[in-house]
Amino acid sequence: MGGEAYLNLGKPNNGGTKLFSVSGHVNRPGNYEVPMGTPFAKLLEMAGGMRGGRKLKAVIPGGSSAPVLPADVMMDCTMDYDSIAKAGSMLGSGAVIVMDETVCMVKALERLSYFYFEESCGQCTPCREGSGWLYRVVHRIEHGQGRPEDLDLLNRVTDNMMGKTICALADAAAFPVRSFIKHFKSEFEYHIENKKCLVDPEVQRMGSGFFKAGAA
Ligand code: SF4
Repeated sequence: MGGEAYLNLGKPNNGGTKLFSVSGHVNRPGNYEVPMGTPFAKLLEMAGGMRGGRKLKAVIPGGSSAPVLPADVMMDCTMDYDSIAKAGSMLGSGAVIVMDETVCMVKALERLSYFYFEESCGQCTPCREGSGWLYRVVHRIEHGQGRPEDLDLLNRVTDNMMGKTICALADAAAFPVRSFIKHFKSEFEYHIENKKCLVDPEVQRMGSGFFKAGAA
């Protein structure tokens, strides 16, 4: 039907359709092609809604490097570049990771940070050293050895990584750390103060454990 007709499927400045790969705590994880500008709530409904009828907690809307967004922010978003950017994240690859109330955000970030630490090729010092620091500091918070100054330390490490390397992996490692701390700071502070998780371990076991720390 031609380019114009395809563009008109979406909304101004966000034309056409996009494939979203929805994973996590939904009933029907999978790939969904929808017009740009489709409400996130509609995409969630297409993916079968929340598994077990549990409450939505957070969504990573564009692949693991995209900043995480809390449920209330995400539920007001439409699935297009402008709406997600305005909310403070990015549509990126369209890999939508849905997390319910069983997820400990510290553990989730530990898993993500381990991935980027492992992926760093080591060519640039800020990425090689920074990704290791991010993982180690988040790891110690998760395992009850966090220090009150650790959240500032994590943000300072990301400052020294972003925009200072050859490829975008350092930024990709930094975005999750900054956004998890920004939106779920109380969970990190609880871990540091109480040396345990705010989310009851029994509740965490009810989830699939897709954010199980694979790291040693
Ligand atoms: S930023 Fe890219 S090139 Fe530099 S160390 Fe990290 S992965 Fe390697």
